[in-house]
Amino acid sequence: MDAIAIWNYSNYRKDLDEGAGYHFNSNQSRLHSALNIGDSIWLVTRVVVRGRNEYRLAARLIIRAKTINSPSYKYGTYRVWGDVTVSSYFHIEKTSEHDVFELLKLLEMESGTLVGKNRSNIFQSMQTVRNISRKSSNLLESFSNQLPLETRAIQVLDESKLEKAFIANDAGQLNLLLNENPVGYSVSTKSEIKQSFERNRKLVKSLHELYNGRCQVTGHDSPLLYGVPTAEAHHVVYRSRGGADEMENLVLVSPNLHTAIHAANATFDYSSLAFVFPNGRVEPLVLNTHLEKRVA
Ligand SMILES: [Zn+2]
Repeated sequence: MDAIAIWNYSNYRKDLDEGAGYHFNSNQSRLHSALNIGDSIWLVTRVVVRGRNEYRLAARLIIRAKTINSPSYKYGTYRVWGDVTVSSYFHIEKTSEHDVFELLKLLEMESGTLVGKNRSNIFQSMQTVRNISRKSSNLLESFSNQLPLETRAIQVLDESKLEKAFIANDAGQLNLLLNENPVGYSVSTKSEIKQSFERNRKLVKSLHELYNGRCQVTGHDSPLLYGVPTAEAHHVVYRSRGGADEMENLVLVSPNLHTAIHAANATFDYSSLAFVFPNGRVEPLVLNTHLEKRVA
Protein backbone atom coordinates (compact mmCIF):
# COMPACT_ATOMS: atom_id res chain seq x y z
CA MET A 1 0.00 0.00 0.00
CA ASP A 2 1.16 3.53 -0.68
CA ALA A 3 1.82 5.87 2.22
CA ILE A 4 2.23 9.51 3.13
CA ALA A 5 4.53 11.27 5.58
CA ILE A 6 5.85 14.69 6.49
CA TRP A 7 9.37 15.63 5.45
CA ASN A 8 10.69 18.64 7.33
CA TYR A 9 11.48 21.43 4.90
CA SER A 10 14.95 21.97 6.34
CA ASN A 11 15.76 18.27 5.85
CA TYR A 12 14.42 18.38 2.30
CA ARG A 13 16.64 21.42 1.56
CA LYS A 14 19.64 19.76 3.17
CA ASP A 15 19.07 16.62 1.11
CA LEU A 16 18.97 18.67 -2.11
CA ASP A 17 22.04 20.67 -1.15
CA GLU A 18 24.07 17.52 -0.43
CA GLY A 19 22.93 15.58 -3.53
CA ALA A 20 19.41 14.21 -3.60
CA GLY A 21 19.48 10.88 -1.79
CA TYR A 22 16.09 9.48 -2.87
CA HIS A 23 15.94 8.10 0.67
CA PHE A 24 13.57 8.64 3.53
CA ASN A 25 14.52 7.85 7.12
CA SER A 26 12.46 7.53 10.25
CA ASN A 27 12.49 6.10 13.75
CA GLN A 28 9.08 4.59 13.09
CA SER A 29 9.15 0.91 12.25
CA ARG A 30 5.96 1.66 10.32
CA LEU A 31 8.15 3.06 7.58
CA HIS A 32 9.10 -0.54 6.82
CA SER A 33 5.89 -2.35 7.70
CA ALA A 34 3.64 0.10 5.81
CA LEU A 35 5.56 -0.08 2.56
CA ASN A 36 6.47 -2.90 0.21
CA ILE A 37 8.89 -2.79 -2.68
CA GLY A 38 7.21 -0.95 -5.56
CA ASP A 39 4.88 1.08 -3.30
CA SER A 40 5.06 4.86 -3.22
CA ILE A 41 5.62 7.12 -0.28
CA TRP A 42 4.39 10.68 -0.80
CA LEU A 43 6.47 13.17 1.13
CA VAL A 44 4.78 16.39 2.10
CA THR A 45 6.54 19.42 3.48
CA ARG A 46 5.39 22.61 5.16
CA VAL A 47 6.41 26.08 4.04
CA VAL A 48 5.35 29.45 5.39
CA VAL A 49 3.99 31.79 2.72
CA ARG A 50 3.08 35.31 3.83
CA GLY A 51 2.72 34.11 7.41
CA ARG A 52 0.47 31.17 6.51
CA ASN A 53 1.33 27.49 6.81
CA GLU A 54 1.13 25.92 3.40
CA TYR A 55 1.86 22.37 2.30
CA ARG A 56 3.75 21.17 -0.74
CA LEU A 57 4.49 17.81 -2.28
CA ALA A 58 8.25 17.44 -1.91
CA ALA A 59 8.81 14.02 -3.42
CA ARG A 60 7.32 10.72 -4.43
CA LEU A 61 9.63 7.82 -3.74
CA ILE A 62 8.88 4.50 -5.35
CA ILE A 63 10.44 1.99 -3.01
CA ARG A 64 13.23 -0.27 -4.24
CA ALA A 65 14.74 -1.34 -0.89
CA LYS A 66 14.31 -1.12 2.87
CA THR A 67 17.29 -1.20 5.19
CA ILE A 68 18.41 -0.45 8.73
CA ASN A 69 20.82 2.45 9.21
CA SER A 70 24.15 2.47 11.02
CA PRO A 71 23.92 2.85 14.82
CA SER A 72 25.07 6.45 14.88
CA TYR A 73 22.91 7.64 12.00
CA LYS A 74 20.87 10.42 13.52
CA TYR A 75 17.83 10.64 11.26
CA GLY A 76 16.34 7.32 12.33
CA THR A 77 16.74 3.56 12.35
CA TYR A 78 14.66 2.79 9.29
CA ARG A 79 15.46 3.75 5.71
CA VAL A 80 13.58 3.31 2.48
CA TRP A 81 15.39 3.77 -0.82
CA GLY A 82 13.52 5.28 -3.73
CA ASP A 83 14.18 4.03 -7.24
CA VAL A 84 16.01 6.98 -8.80
CA THR A 85 14.77 6.16 -12.29
CA VAL A 86 11.06 6.40 -11.45
CA SER A 87 10.83 8.51 -8.27
CA SER A 88 10.33 12.29 -8.39
CA TYR A 89 11.37 15.36 -6.47
CA PHE A 90 9.06 18.33 -6.99
CA HIS A 91 10.30 21.87 -7.30
CA ILE A 92 8.86 23.81 -4.38
CA GLU A 93 7.51 27.22 -5.23
CA LYS A 94 5.75 29.75 -3.08
CA THR A 95 2.88 30.04 -5.53
CA SER A 96 -0.28 29.07 -3.67
CA GLU A 97 -1.80 26.91 -6.38
CA HIS A 98 0.78 24.34 -5.39
CA ASP A 99 -0.64 24.22 -1.88
CA VAL A 100 -1.78 20.67 -1.18
CA PHE A 101 -3.55 21.37 2.13
CA GLU A 102 -7.15 20.99 0.91
CA LEU A 103 -6.24 17.80 -0.89
CA LEU A 104 -4.68 16.29 2.24
CA LYS A 105 -8.03 16.49 4.02
CA LEU A 106 -9.67 14.43 1.26
CA LEU A 107 -7.27 11.51 1.57
CA GLU A 108 -8.60 8.15 2.70
CA MET A 109 -6.23 6.85 5.33
CA GLU A 110 -5.93 3.43 6.81
CA SER A 111 -5.84 4.91 10.29
CA GLY A 112 -7.41 8.15 11.42
CA THR A 113 -8.39 11.04 9.21
CA LEU A 114 -7.26 14.56 8.51
CA VAL A 115 -10.82 15.87 8.15
CA GLY A 116 -11.34 18.92 10.33
CA LYS A 117 -7.65 19.63 10.73
CA ASN A 118 -6.47 23.17 10.28
CA ARG A 119 -3.29 24.47 8.69
CA SER A 120 -1.44 24.29 12.00
CA ASN A 121 -2.48 21.02 13.58
CA ILE A 122 -2.43 18.96 10.39
CA PHE A 123 1.38 19.05 10.56
CA GLN A 124 1.37 17.22 13.90
CA SER A 125 -1.21 14.70 12.65
CA MET A 126 1.00 13.79 9.74
CA GLN A 127 4.09 12.94 11.75
CA THR A 128 3.15 9.26 11.64
CA VAL A 129 3.78 7.37 8.43
CA ARG A 130 0.29 6.43 7.21
CA ASN A 131 -1.06 4.20 4.51
CA ILE A 132 -3.46 5.73 2.02
CA SER A 133 -5.95 4.15 -0.38
CA ARG A 134 -5.17 3.60 -4.04
CA LYS A 135 -7.74 6.26 -4.92
CA SER A 136 -5.96 8.76 -2.68
CA SER A 137 -2.61 7.95 -4.18
CA ASN A 138 -4.16 8.55 -7.62
CA LEU A 139 -5.43 11.95 -6.43
CA LEU A 140 -1.91 12.89 -5.34
CA GLU A 141 -0.55 11.66 -8.64
CA SER A 142 -2.98 13.83 -10.64
CA PHE A 143 -2.06 16.81 -8.49
CA SER A 144 1.66 16.13 -8.88
CA ASN A 145 1.37 16.05 -12.68
CA GLN A 146 1.01 19.85 -12.71
CA LEU A 147 4.11 20.35 -10.55
CA PRO A 148 7.52 21.19 -11.99
CA LEU A 149 10.18 18.61 -11.21
CA GLU A 150 13.21 19.60 -9.14
CA THR A 151 16.04 19.40 -11.64
CA ARG A 152 18.70 19.62 -8.92
CA ALA A 153 17.65 16.13 -7.83
CA ILE A 154 18.83 14.63 -11.08
CA GLN A 155 21.96 16.77 -11.46
CA VAL A 156 24.04 14.60 -9.20
CA LEU A 157 27.46 13.14 -9.98
CA ASP A 158 27.77 9.55 -11.08
CA GLU A 159 28.96 7.69 -7.97
CA SER A 160 31.18 5.29 -9.92
CA LYS A 161 33.00 8.20 -11.58
CA LEU A 162 33.33 10.00 -8.26
CA GLU A 163 34.70 6.91 -6.51
CA LYS A 164 37.07 6.25 -9.41
CA ALA A 165 38.50 9.73 -8.98
CA PHE A 166 38.94 8.97 -5.26
CA ILE A 167 40.51 5.58 -5.97
CA ALA A 168 42.89 7.11 -8.51
CA ASN A 169 43.53 9.94 -6.04
CA ASP A 170 42.91 12.25 -8.96
CA ALA A 171 41.83 15.69 -7.75
CA GLY A 172 42.05 17.04 -11.30
CA GLN A 173 39.52 14.49 -12.51
CA LEU A 174 37.19 15.37 -9.67
CA ASN A 175 37.42 19.08 -10.49
CA LEU A 176 36.57 18.26 -14.07
CA LEU A 177 33.53 16.26 -12.96
CA LEU A 178 32.32 19.04 -10.71
CA ASN A 179 32.95 21.79 -13.23
CA GLU A 180 31.85 20.08 -16.43
CA ASN A 181 28.53 18.83 -15.17
CA PRO A 182 25.74 21.10 -14.06
CA VAL A 183 25.40 19.69 -10.59
CA GLY A 184 22.64 20.35 -8.11
CA TYR A 185 24.88 20.57 -5.06
CA SER A 186 25.15 23.68 -2.94
CA VAL A 187 28.36 25.67 -3.20
CA SER A 188 29.47 24.35 0.20
CA THR A 189 28.85 20.72 -0.79
CA LYS A 190 30.83 21.21 -3.99
CA SER A 191 33.77 22.55 -2.03
CA GLU A 192 33.42 19.78 0.59
CA ILE A 193 33.60 17.16 -2.14
CA LYS A 194 36.67 18.88 -3.59
CA GLN A 195 38.29 18.98 -0.19
CA SER A 196 37.46 15.41 0.77
CA PHE A 197 40.38 13.94 -1.15
CA GLU A 198 42.84 13.97 1.69
CA ARG A 199 40.25 12.70 4.16
CA ASN A 200 39.11 9.94 1.85
CA ARG A 201 42.69 8.84 1.23
CA LYS A 202 43.30 8.46 4.98
CA LEU A 203 40.07 6.53 5.53
CA VAL A 204 40.84 4.15 2.68
CA LYS A 205 44.34 3.63 4.02
CA SER A 206 42.89 2.76 7.44
CA LEU A 207 40.49 0.29 5.84
CA HIS A 208 43.30 -1.42 3.95
CA GLU A 209 45.32 -1.66 7.15
CA LEU A 210 42.40 -3.06 9.12
CA TYR A 211 41.73 -5.85 6.65
CA ASN A 212 45.21 -6.28 5.19
CA GLY A 213 43.73 -5.32 1.85
CA ARG A 214 41.23 -8.18 1.80
CA CYS A 215 37.66 -7.91 0.52
CA GLN A 216 35.28 -7.72 3.48
CA VAL A 217 32.62 -9.75 1.68
CA THR A 218 34.56 -12.47 -0.13
CA GLY A 219 37.79 -12.42 1.85
CA HIS A 220 39.63 -12.21 -1.48
CA ASP A 221 43.24 -11.52 -0.58
CA SER A 222 44.91 -9.83 -3.52
CA PRO A 223 47.99 -8.71 -1.53
CA LEU A 224 48.70 -12.35 -0.64
CA LEU A 225 47.88 -13.76 -4.08
CA TYR A 226 49.34 -11.10 -6.30
CA GLY A 227 51.38 -8.87 -4.05
CA VAL A 228 49.20 -5.85 -4.80
CA PRO A 229 46.11 -4.43 -3.09
CA THR A 230 43.11 -4.15 -5.42
CA ALA A 231 40.17 -3.85 -2.99
CA GLU A 232 38.17 -0.63 -3.23
CA ALA A 233 36.33 1.45 -0.67
CA HIS A 234 32.60 1.65 -1.33
CA HIS A 235 30.29 4.29 0.17
CA VAL A 236 27.18 2.54 1.49
CA VAL A 237 25.21 5.74 1.10
CA TYR A 238 26.71 7.23 -2.02
CA ARG A 239 29.06 10.15 -1.41
CA SER A 240 27.46 11.82 -4.42
CA ARG A 241 24.06 11.54 -2.74
CA GLY A 242 24.87 12.93 0.66
CA GLY A 243 26.60 9.88 2.16
CA ALA A 244 29.21 10.67 4.79
CA ASP A 245 32.94 10.38 4.27
CA GLU A 246 33.26 8.32 7.43
CA MET A 247 34.47 4.82 8.28
CA GLU A 248 30.98 3.64 9.16
CA ASN A 249 29.80 4.53 5.66
CA LEU A 250 32.63 2.60 4.00
CA VAL A 251 33.11 -1.06 3.15
CA LEU A 252 36.22 -2.52 1.51
CA VAL A 253 35.28 -4.76 -1.42
CA SER A 254 36.99 -6.45 -4.32
CA PRO A 255 36.65 -4.66 -7.70
CA ASN A 256 34.36 -7.30 -9.27
CA LEU A 257 31.95 -7.15 -6.40
CA HIS A 258 32.18 -3.37 -6.35
CA THR A 259 31.18 -3.25 -10.00
CA ALA A 260 28.23 -5.56 -9.29
CA ILE A 261 27.12 -3.50 -6.30
CA HIS A 262 26.90 -0.37 -8.46
CA ALA A 263 25.47 -2.05 -11.53
CA ALA A 264 22.73 -3.75 -9.53
CA ASN A 265 22.27 -0.89 -7.06
CA ALA A 266 22.70 -3.21 -4.10
CA THR A 267 21.96 -1.70 -0.69
CA PHE A 268 23.66 -2.36 2.63
CA ASP A 269 21.77 -3.26 5.78
CA TYR A 270 23.27 -2.57 9.20
CA SER A 271 21.03 -5.03 11.07
CA SER A 272 22.49 -7.94 9.11
CA LEU A 273 25.74 -6.26 8.00
CA ALA A 274 25.07 -7.53 4.52
CA PHE A 275 24.69 -6.27 0.97
CA VAL A 276 21.24 -6.98 -0.39
CA PHE A 277 20.85 -7.28 -4.15
CA PRO A 278 17.56 -6.58 -5.94
CA ASN A 279 17.45 -10.21 -7.17
CA GLY A 280 17.33 -11.37 -3.55
CA ARG A 281 20.98 -12.32 -3.22
CA VAL A 282 22.40 -11.43 0.20
CA GLU A 283 26.14 -11.01 0.69
CA PRO A 284 27.09 -10.75 4.37
CA LEU A 285 30.45 -9.44 5.50
CA VAL A 286 32.85 -12.22 6.43
CA LEU A 287 35.46 -9.78 7.66
CA ASN A 288 34.39 -6.95 9.86
CA THR A 289 35.88 -5.09 12.75
CA HIS A 290 34.79 -1.54 12.03
CA LEU A 291 31.02 -1.67 11.45
CA GLU A 292 28.50 -2.09 14.23
CA LYS A 293 25.16 -3.81 13.93
CA ARG A 294 22.04 -1.81 14.64
CA VAL A 295 19.28 -3.81 16.24
CA ALA A 296 15.93 -2.70 14.87
ZN1 LIG B 1 31.14 2.19 -4.59
